Amino acid sequence: MDSAAAKLEVYGRILVMKMLLKQTNWKIFLLALALSCLPTDLGSAQQIRAVASWPALADITRQIGKEVVNVESLATGVEDAHGVPMKPSFVPRMNRADLLILIGLDDEQTWIPGLLEVAGNPKILPGQAGYIDCSVGIPVLEAPARLDRAEGDIHPKGNPHYLSDPVRTKTCARNIAAGLIRNFPRHQAVFEKNLNAYLAELDNWIARWEKMAAPLRGIKYVEYHQEWVYLADRFGMKRIGSVELRPGVEPTPNHIVNLVEMIKQEKPQLLIYGAQNPRLPKQLANETGIKVLRLYSGGGNQPETDSYIKWVDHTLRTLVQALS
Ligand SMILES: [Zn+2]
Repeated sequence: MDSAAAKLEVYGRILVMKMLLKQTNWKIFLLALALSCLPTDLGSAQQIRAVASWPALADITRQIGKEVVNVESLATGVEDAHGVPMKPSFVPRMNRADLLILIGLDDEQTWIPGLLEVAGNPKILPGQAGYIDCSVGIPVLEAPARLDRAEGDIHPKGNPHYLSDPVRTKTCARNIAAGLIRNFPRHQAVFEKNLNAYLAELDNWIARWEKMAAPLRGIKYVEYHQEWVYLADRFGMKRIGSVELRPGVEPTPNHIVNLVEMIKQEKPQLLIYGAQNPRLPKQLANETGIKVLRLYSGGGNQPETDSYIKWVDHTLRTLVQALS
């Protein structure tokens, strides 16, 4: 590494330390310091270095890049869909990346822009060739008439949780392949071949999932955060309410009273939650008798969800089992 890059990395680490100091205590700070001193140069020099925000995106990139691309995910997959805690190790990984692969639609708005600022890597800034927004061309649900972050809504560009629909995810895979080819055209033939194989594999699974998910058609559900609308759209489920007041905004007591009333009247079969505190789902179950189900918001971390396909399969299986 040349001295300018080394200086930049030290600077980035100091900045992230400052950010961590603001939000955490000394023990965590020291742990973070120790972690930041670990060697981070994990990939071989010949490989393209890609960083993805979420494990499902890293997995899809791996299917297309195979041995040519070394891809790492920043999130582990169990975090809150919008609140990935920042680790000092993120900075050097982003500093050295050739590509940054994101869900887009402001899904990562609370954590990626700050990291980009300290990572000092012009290749992966928004608008540059190395910045791959996987949402391009995906039909967006719950898109607002105008961009509005008023009152804390964290879905200002519409719902960003499209990965739960495997058909939309085919567009995401095409976007990743296009990004790889744009940056490394000498590998175009390999990326295209791998993409086509992966799309064919997804098509096989989609046909299987359509059959498997037949019992989900027509069921009503409530969710904590509005994150399953694309799955519902694909497999015929109907959301009738959410625990949050708006995406990212915890409910008021009045909202809970109304929700209890609605659950009693409409009798949805399931209340789905994810990384959130189970206190409110349990309280609603006690008051209404609704069945509560925990699903993973993203793939990764668990053996049964450590690839994109396994995550969708596990999610549908869990839903079907919960209804039987
Ligand atoms: Zn969300």
